[in-house]
Amino acid sequence: MPDVKEILALDRAHVWHPYGPMPGRQEPLVVESASGVRLRVAGVGELVDGMSSWWSAIHGYNHPVLNAAARDQLDRMSHVMFGGLTHEPAVRLAKRLVDLTPEGLEHVFLADSGSVSVEVALKMCLQYWRSLGRPEKRRMLTWRGGYHGDTWQPMAVCDPQGGMHSLWQGVLPQQVFADLPPAGFDAYDAAYAEHLHDMIGRHAHELAGVIVEPVVQGAGGMRVHSPRYLRALREACDAHDVLLVFDEIATGFGRTGALFAADHAGVTPDVMCLGKSLTGGYLTMAATLCTPRVADGIARGEVPVLAHGPTFMGNPLAAAVAGASIDLLLGQDWQTEVKRIGTGLTAALAPAAELPYVRDVRVLGALGVVQLDHQVDMAAATAAAVRAGVWLRPFRDLIYTMPPYVTGDEDVAAIGRAVCAAARASGEARA
Ligand SMILES: *Cc1c(COP(=O)(O)O)cnc(C)c1O
Repeated sequence: MPDVKEILALDRAHVWHPYGPMPGRQEPLVVESASGVRLRVAGVGELVDGMSSWWSAIHGYNHPVLNAAARDQLDRMSHVMFGGLTHEPAVRLAKRLVDLTPEGLEHVFLADSGSVSVEVALKMCLQYWRSLGRPEKRRMLTWRGGYHGDTWQPMAVCDPQGGMHSLWQGVLPQQVFADLPPAGFDAYDAAYAEHLHDMIGRHAHELAGVIVEPVVQGAGGMRVHSPRYLRALREACDAHDVLLVFDEIATGFGRTGALFAADHAGVTPDVMCLGKSLTGGYLTMAATLCTPRVADGIARGEVPVLAHGPTFMGNPLAAAVAGASIDLLLGQDWQTEVKRIGTGLTAALAPAAELPYVRDVRVLGALGVVQLDHQVDMAAATAAAVRAGVWLRPFRDLIYTMPPYVTGDEDVAAIGRAVCAAARASGEARA
């Protein structure tokens, strides 16, 4: 048995947590193990996981198939360098990704985290135009409300106001921001599509690319928009000679009800980022895919190589598990499972809409969101969820859940009750 008090003391003294102060203010829970959709927490017992460890653990924890893939690969080699060497897990994974992603994406850069895959995507765009003799095309356009990671270039395309990076205004490269996309999967505002066209046209001479999260803006606010804007972006980018990047790090692998959010629109971007659930939540790996147009453009440059090569690029262990995770996903009727979870969440979150301090309740695919009219009282909300037997991690004004696809109906209902309890606890703590 681990000494929980000691772990917490050492944690508080030495360990940074995501978006946390040092020392931490709120005591974290100590997880001892995880299996299926349950986390075993010291001093608490089992909690149903409502977060999939930030969109990633789509098959749940400690999955026998993924464990076997990891063990099998571990016995061969856990890592070798990728410069001058290659191996089956990475090559087979790349082929799977090319086959699954929208038609036209042919080349794969395996990065070690989502943020790095966005760095690579932006580098591809800028280098493409530089190689074609148009180095002045070096800005990116995005819409407000986005999130693309925490390293330097991705920070610059995150929402400039509401985001976590507003501290760095004036330090980050200045990118071009279109208005927030209107809310709602089924809502379409032609005037907004016109606004996108306008902005892209007006800045085309200095734009290397447009980068957006398709259909769902995740950590920037859990907002959903019409896939038709993706088509508008594709048309505007084609008309004005600008590259289009989709960041599917959160939306990829079925979460929104389509395998990739781009599939809702039938649009192929020039560059696409994948991460989070790529390895089923086991290991850190991400991918940047691009079309032959982008790769050929870069190859024609004075510097014909893409100068990027992380030490752990193509990590065999992560690649083997990613391959197994994709096979596991495609080997089942995942669409039915995602729909089932969405239906369960819609029913279970409905009571939240009755609460006076709830602004909006929305569900898309296997993602459920309750938006409050105030900043969530984290301590009160998390404690209420834990009392309801569920792990949730709200942020800003949002209490949200994206359960593993293997979550049973009873557990989906429990998660929904916990989200409602967390909303109530936050509203009451504030009153
Ligand atoms: C999480 C996320 C990232 C960053 O990925 P990391 O692996 O955390 O670096 C980038 N874009 C989107 C849309 C994300 O959800």
